[in-house]
Amino acid sequence: MSQALLSRPARPIVRQTKLLIDNRWVDPVEGGTLETIDPSTGEVIAIVAAGTAADVDKAVKAARRALDHGPWGQIDAAERGNLMFGLANLVEGHAKDLAALESLNCGKTIADSTGDLEGVVNTLRYYAGWADKIEGKTVPVRGNFLSYTLRQPVGVVGQIIPWNFPLLMLAWKFGPALACGNTIVLKPAEQTPLTALRIGELAIEAGFPPGVINIINGYGETAGAAMVAHPDIDKIAFTGHVDTAKIITRQAADTLKRTTFELGGKSPNVVFADADIDAAVEGAFHAIYFHGGQCCTAGSRLFVEKKIHAEFVERLATKAKARKVGDPLDPATQQGPQVSQEQLDKILHYVGLGKSEGATLVSGGERSGDKGFFVAPTIFDNVKDDMAIARDEIFGPVVSVLPFSTFEEVTERANNTSYGLAAAIWTKDIDKAHLFARQVKAGTVWVNCYHVVDTTTPFGGFKMSGQGRENGEAALEHYSETKTVTIKLGS
Ligand code: ADP
Repeated sequence: MSQALLSRPARPIVRQTKLLIDNRWVDPVEGGTLETIDPSTGEVIAIVAAGTAADVDKAVKAARRALDHGPWGQIDAAERGNLMFGLANLVEGHAKDLAALESLNCGKTIADSTGDLEGVVNTLRYYAGWADKIEGKTVPVRGNFLSYTLRQPVGVVGQIIPWNFPLLMLAWKFGPALACGNTIVLKPAEQTPLTALRIGELAIEAGFPPGVINIINGYGETAGAAMVAHPDIDKIAFTGHVDTAKIITRQAADTLKRTTFELGGKSPNVVFADADIDAAVEGAFHAIYFHGGQCCTAGSRLFVEKKIHAEFVERLATKAKARKVGDPLDPATQQGPQVSQEQLDKILHYVGLGKSEGATLVSGGERSGDKGFFVAPTIFDNVKDDMAIARDEIFGPVVSVLPFSTFEEVTERANNTSYGLAAAIWTKDIDKAHLFARQVKAGTVWVNCYHVVDTTTPFGGFKMSGQGRENGEAALEHYSETKTVTIKLGS
C-alpha cells in the first residue's frame, strides 16, 4: 500500500496480556511477567504474563487433548480449511488495528506493518486452501498387496518466533501447521508478544476448538527451553538466531524432536555495471534498509562492480542522508527504531568495529536522537571480506560495500560465508543472471529485485541459515508424517 493512502492510526489499545491455554486466558502458574517496551520511546507499553515450564506443560496437555480427543482430530479437512479462512477474514477485518499494534510494539513503520498484514492474510488463505488437498498416494508394490500412504499431522508442534516480523512469522508457522491438522503451542518473542495475543482472541472468535492454538508468552531460556525439552511436543519450528538454533538442536536431541530452522543471513547483493543503475540503487537501498535492516534476508554485503562503484556509493549516500527516521506510526516515516536497547548497542558495537578495522564510513554510523532506539542509515565503503562487518549478521541499517571486478571473483566471494539465506544480482545479461542463480549457495535468489517473498514459494536457508523450508507446498512436508498402509489382497 502506498504511504500516501495511510493516515496516522490512533494509539492502539492493548486488550490482552495473559496466556492462551485451551481457549481460556489464564495467569501464569508462577505469576511471572515481562515488560513490553515501545522501541520509539523506551517506555513500557504493557506488562505481559510470562509463562514458564508449568504453563508450557498445561498448554501441551491441552494441545494433546485437542488432537487425540477433541473435535479437531475428527473434523473434515475442508472444515479445518474453513476455520482458517474464517481467521483470515477476521484478521483482514482488523488489519488496521493489528498493523498499528505491530508498529507500536516492534517499531516497524505503519507502511511496513500494513504490508505485513497483507502477507498474513495471504498466508492464512493460501494454507486454508491446502487443508483438503494434502493427499497420499497409491503405490504399485510387488506382490498381491494394496499399498497406499496417508499424510497425518506430526502432532503437537511448538513454534518459537522472533521479534522482527511478529505477525508474519506467526502466519508462516500457523498456516502449514493447521492445514496439516496439527495443534500448536506458540511462543512469541519476549519483545513483541502483543499482536500474537490479539490473534489468539481472533482465533477463538473464528471458532477454533479449545487446545488447537495455545500461546505462551515468555522468555526463551525458560518458556522456549521448556518447549524444546517437553517430551510431548513432537516438533519445534524455530525462527531466530543461529546460536539459539544450536542450543535447540542439542536440547531436542534428547527427545529426537523434529526441528525446522529459519535463521540469519549475510546476503550478497551483487550489482554489475550493465544493470539498470537507477533500479539497482533503489533495490540496494531497499535491500538493506527495509525494516531498519532487521530482516534475515537483508542485503548487507553489497558487491558493486568497480567501474560504477564510486558513483553508486554516492547515490546511495544521498538517499541514506535523506531517509526519514522517526515515529513508526507517522505515515511519512521511512524507518522506525531498532527493536531494543540490546539491538541498538549491538549495531553501534559493529559500527565501532567497522571504523577500527579500517572501512570508510560514508554515512550514518550513529544513534539518531536521544530517546528510543533509532540508528541513522549507515554505509561503510571499501570493506574487506574478512572484516567483522562483512562476516557477521548485524541486523541493523548497516551496509558493507565491497567493490569487485569479475563475475568469477564475485561469485566466489558471495559464497564465502557460513550463511546461505538469500542473494541477488542486478544485470541485464541473462547469462550472468542464470549462472549466478545456479552457482550462489542461497535458498532464495533475486534477479533485478529484492525482498520479493510470497507465501506460495519455498523460503529457507542453505548452510547455517536454516533447515527445511517455510511457505509453499514445501512447508507441508515438515508438518505431516507419511504413513504407509499395506493390505493383503485375497489369500
Ligand atoms: P534474537 O537474537 O533475534 O532475539 P533469538 O534466537 O534469541 O533471536 O530469539 C528468537 C526466539 O527464540 C525468541 O522467541 C526467543 O525467546 C527464543 N529463544 C531464545 N533462547 C531460547 C532457548 N534457549 N530455547 C528456546 N527458545 C529460545
